[in-house]
Order: sequence, then C-alpha cells, then structure tokens
Amino acid sequence: MILEANDVRKTYANGFTALDGASLRLEDGEILALLGPNGAGKTTFISTICGLVEPSSGSITVGGFDIKRDYRAARKMIGLVPQEINLEPFEKVISTVRHSRGLFGLPRDDAKVEQVLRDLSLWDKRNNQTKELSGGMKRRVLIAKALVHEPQILFLDEPSAGVDVELRRDMWEVVARLKERGVTIVLTTHYIEEAEAIADRVAVIHKGRILLTESKDSLMQRMGQKTLSIDIHETLSAVPEALAEFNLSLGAEGQTLVYSYDTQAKHTGITRLLTQLAAAGLSLKDITTRNSTLEEIFVDLLQQEDAT
Ligand code: ADP
Repeated sequence: MILEANDVRKTYANGFTALDGASLRLEDGEILALLGPNGAGKTTFISTICGLVEPSSGSITVGGFDIKRDYRAARKMIGLVPQEINLEPFEKVISTVRHSRGLFGLPRDDAKVEQVLRDLSLWDKRNNQTKELSGGMKRRVLIAKALVHEPQILFLDEPSAGVDVELRRDMWEVVARLKERGVTIVLTTHYIEEAEAIADRVAVIHKGRILLTESKDSLMQRMGQKTLSIDIHETLSAVPEALAEFNLSLGAEGQTLVYSYDTQAKHTGITRLLTQLAAAGLSLKDITTRNSTLEEIFVDLLQQEDAT
C-alpha cells in the first residue's frame, strides 16, 4: 500500500475545520481522482499528505513511512505538482529539472533527467528559458520537476484549473503515459469530466470527509440511474395528469417525455409507464436510454449527504 491516511483532521488557526476525519488507502499504480466541490478540503488533504500542512490529528504513511516520524523518507516517495506555476523565468528547463533532483539529496543523474524530459516531450525545449514556454509546456516542466527524484506517487493539484480544453486533453495523455510507467497518481479536480476520463478510482470529498472511494466503473454502475426518452407523435404543453405518478419531465419541443429510473430497482416501472402512455392516448415514436454521467451521480451523492 503506497498511501494510508487514517482519520486526518485539520483545524486551521482561525478555527476553521477543513478536514474532519478524512481517511484514504491507495494501492500502487492506480490513478485516483479526488473529487469534490470548491472548499471541500482537497488541497488541504494533499498538502497534509505532502507535509506542507500539519494535521491536527490522525496518521499518514506514504510507502510505509510515517510523514511525521520519517518525514524525509516519506517526502522522497512523493512528487507534488502544485496548482500555481512557480518557475524561475530565466532558468533553463534542464537546469530547473536537474536542480529539483538535487533538493532531495540525490546525486546528479543526466540519464534520468533526459528520460523525464523525453517522457514529457520537453527534450527539444531543454535549453529554453522557462519564460519562453507556453502555459502547457510550463505545466509539463512542473511535472518533470516533480518526477525527477523518482517518486512512487505523484500528486497533481487541479492540473487543469484555468487550462483550455486542448491543454486538458494533453495533460490527460501525459497522466496515462505516467501510469504506464507504474507511477501512482492522485489528482484533485472539481471537473467530473476529468475524473471520468482518466481515473481508475474516484474518491469523493465533501466538508472535509471522504464520502466514498470506489472504482469509477462500479460507482457509475451502482449509482446508475438511466434516463429513458420517449418520443411521441403528439405535441404536449404539460405532462398529462394520467401520468403524474411517474415523475416525468417534458422535453423542450413537447414531443419527448423523459423518465429517470433506477437500474438496480426490482421494478423499473417502464412497462406500466408504456401501458399508461397508450391509455392516455399518446402514440410512441421512438425510445432511447442513456446511463447517467458521473456528474449526475456526484450531484446526487452530495444531495443525499446534505439531507442526512
Ligand atoms: P479545495 O481544495 O477542496 O477547494 P481547500 O482545502 O483549499 O479546499 O480548502 C478547504 C477549506 O479550508 C476552505 O473553506 C478554505 O477556505 C479553508 N482554508 C484553506 N486554507 C486555509 C487557511 N490557511 N486558513 C484558514 N482556512 C483555510
């Protein structure tokens, strides 16, 4: 197990509790998306794991090393890519990456530096000053700096905050390549789309607690609502009284009825709905179903949590 965080709490000096008993376990080589709304505690949690923020209580080990007792050993296992781009504008790409390795007390290793730069398609830019690079290339330099001491686990804090769509996809490719190399990756995000695109597992954090950790696929299956769209020949201005019990909504053109149902339920109600539909004098044109997205699942989860 590469990471084990147990009941981590953090109350900031102003009395605000940002972490309220967060626990997380992570196996080697997976990609975990730590998903949560703004202010949920994502940055606080990873900063605590990386030793930048001191927890008020709880325990954390990285690669078996306690982050308090064995701070240096634990920190060496970790690569952290911060949200902000904090590069020296006049420094060359290759020297800033080399320097990062030195910070961990490791001997100079030109072959390693070259490999990391090549992995991130930065080799051609190695002699450029960082200020000459595009935003996307600067992000890659941050990742190279975080990887050059050969960490086992890489934290990416909101890798696509303020990044355009093209660059985001580019980042996702970089992450997929790192996974192939066996690096465990944790990324914080509030873009569900991002979790959906690249994560193996999703952890949802809300109000400083991890609500659940689950494989992305099983989460989508378990929480899966399906949507049934029923196209009809008639044009409606409202959902007919006779169908009131079904929790339907009416599509924009008045010719589609939308029905959400639980795929795990014993009775989906579809057969009865279709019978009632005919009884109400409506005639069927077409039917389509679609799985709910992670976005819909996420909103659902937070609503359930807030209701308890
Ligand atoms: P996220 O990354 O999920 O957006 P953060 O971990 O950044 O959330 O913040 C969680 C909460 O803790 C927020 O309400 C934030 O305002 C608060 N917070 C973060 N840092 C500090 C700090 N140094 N002092 C007091 N409150 C803080």
